[in-house]
Amino acid sequence: MALTLAPAKQQTQPHPPGEYPAVIVGAGAGGLQMSYFLHRLGVRHAVISEDSNPGGMFRKFPVYQRLNTWSKPYPPVEPTSRHYAWFDWNSLLADERTHLALVPEFMNDGSYFPTRLEMERGLETFAERAAVRVRYGCRWESTRRTESGFVLGTSDGEYRCRIAIFAIGMAEPWKPEIPGIDQVPHYAEALPSRQYARKRVLILGKRTSAFEMADALLAYTPQIILISPRPPLLAIHTHSTAGVRARYLLPYEDHVLGGGVFMLDAATERIEHTGTGFRVSASGTTRPGTFTFAVDAVVAATGWTTPLRDLRDLGLATFSQDRIPALTPYWESTTVPGIFFAGATSTGSVGLRKYGVPGNSGGVSGFRHNARVLAAYLARTYFDISVPRPLVRPGDVVGYLLSEASSAAELWNQRSYLARVLSVSEEAGILDEGIQPLAAFVDSAGPDAVAVVLETDAQGDHHPAVYVRRDGRVSEHALSGDPLLDFQSPDHRAQLTSILKDGLGLI
Ligand SMILES: Cc1cc2nc3c(=O)[nH]c(=O)nc-3n(C[C@H](O)[C@H](O)[C@H](O)COP(=O)(O)OP(=O)(O)OC[C@H]3O[C@@H](n4cnc5c(N)ncnc54)[C@H](O)[C@@H]3O)c2cc1C
Repeated sequence: MALTLAPAKQQTQPHPPGEYPAVIVGAGAGGLQMSYFLHRLGVRHAVISEDSNPGGMFRKFPVYQRLNTWSKPYPPVEPTSRHYAWFDWNSLLADERTHLALVPEFMNDGSYFPTRLEMERGLETFAERAAVRVRYGCRWESTRRTESGFVLGTSDGEYRCRIAIFAIGMAEPWKPEIPGIDQVPHYAEALPSRQYARKRVLILGKRTSAFEMADALLAYTPQIILISPRPPLLAIHTHSTAGVRARYLLPYEDHVLGGGVFMLDAATERIEHTGTGFRVSASGTTRPGTFTFAVDAVVAATGWTTPLRDLRDLGLATFSQDRIPALTPYWESTTVPGIFFAGATSTGSVGLRKYGVPGNSGGVSGFRHNARVLAAYLARTYFDISVPRPLVRPGDVVGYLLSEASSAAELWNQRSYLARVLSVSEEAGILDEGIQPLAAFVDSAGPDAVAVVLETDAQGDHHPAVYVRRDGRVSEHALSGDPLLDFQSPDHRAQLTSILKDGLGLI
C-alpha cells in the first residue's frame, strides 16, 4: 500500500496509515472515550483527527464560553461511586481513579457549569493521563468498501479496517433554505455579546444555541426576538441535554414577564438587508398572522449537521433533513454494516423515546456511556473477545436491580435508553449481561432476561421500569416513583419480586 506520509511526521505521530482492526475518526470527547474503552478491552485500533489537539468542538464552542451541562465541584459521592457520573455530566469515564472527575479538577469560579476552557482542559488531561494516542493533523477524505471492510483515504495515506467508527461530531453549522439567510451569520460566527450593545437582535431558532445567545445578550440589548416555526417543548427539552436547560431559561422568563425578549412561533419567509439593518418577514404557525421585523442584527441559530463527507455515496441513510446518520440500537449505520458512530452522532440511534423524552446521546453525559456499551459489543461481535458476564445469585437479583435503578449513572443519564440486563437460563444460571440499549433488548429474540431502566413520565415523575423477556415475548412493568428517588424500599422490593416471579419464575 502506498504511504504518502512525510518521514518526519511518520516518526513522531502514532498510528501511521496501514491496516487496523478498527479506525476511529475524531478526537473530541466521543473519540477519546471510544478509544479508551476499546483499548481497555484489547481491541487494536487507530485514532485519527484533523485537529492538532484533543477536545473537538469544545476547543471553540459554546460561543459564549460556558457549558449548559453541570459538574458539581463538591459532589456528595466519591468519583469511583456508581452514582458519581450523575453529578458530573462532563467528565469522561474510566476505570482508574486518576482519570476520573477531570473537569471539576479545573473548575474554580464557583459555578457548577464549567467554562469552555475548563472543559477543554479536562478533555486534554484525560487524553494525557489515559494515554489516548491520536494521529493529529490527519484528515479523513474518502471512504471505499472492500470485501473485508473499508479503506479510509486520509491526508496522510490509506487506512484499511474491518470497522470504522466515526466520532466526527455534529458541529458543522447548518442553515435552512430561506431567501436572504446567506447574508446573516450563523451562531458559530456570532460576535462577542458586547458588540450587540443597544442593538435590536433577531435570533432564528429556539433551541439550545438560540437560548444560550439570548441569555448572553440580555444585559446589552434593548430587544431580542426569537423565532422558529415550533414552540420549545420545555417539559421535554429540560429532561435531556439535547434541549434547553435551566442554564439558559432566563430569556424565557423575560419573555413571560414582558421584558425585552419576545418569542414567536413563526416561519421565516425572507431576510432583507436594508443598509443599516435587516427586515425579516415571517408567517405565524401556532397563531396565524404575518409579521415584519425591523432589527439591527440577525443571527441564524438554526442548528448543526454531521460532516459525513462521502459516506452517503456508500448508501448511508440519514434523517432530520439529511443531518444525522440513521443508526441501529448499537450505533451501526442501518444501511452500511461495519460503519459505526460514537460521540454526539450516536444520537442517530433514537431509542424508544418513552413519553417523548429523547436519549441524551447528543451530549457528553449520555454518549460516554454509549461508548462503553459499544466497545463491549464490538469486542464480542467482531473480535471474539469475551466480556465478563458475572453470575448473580437468585437471592441478590431484586436488591441488585433496585440498587442499579437508584444509583447507576448510565440509567439516569440515559433514561429509557440504556438498561441493566440480566439473562436467565437453566444451564448458565442468572448472568449479568451488563448495560445494553433498551431498544436492542426489546427488539431481540434473545434468551429469557430482565432489563431495568429509569423513565420520566409526562408528569415529570421518575420511576424504574422493568422489561421481562420470556420465550421471545417482552412485557413491560412500571414500578412506583419516590420523591427522594430511592427505589430500594420494602414496597419496591415487593413489586419487583412479584414481577420476576410471575414473568420469569424467578425467586
Ligand atoms: C454550540 C454547542 C454547544 C454545546 N454545548 C454542550 C454542552 O454544554 N454540554 C454537552 O454535553 N454537549 C454540548 N454540545 C454537544 C457537543 O457537540 C458534544 O457534547 C461533544 O462535544 C461532541 O463530541 P464529539 O466527540 O462527538 O464531536 P466533536 O467534539 O465535534 O469532535 C469531532 C472530532 O472529529 C474530528 N473530525 C471531524 N471530521 C474529520 C475528518 N474529516 N477527518 C479527521 N477528523 C475529523 C475533529 O477534528 C474532532 O476531533 C454542544 C454542541 C454545540 C454545537
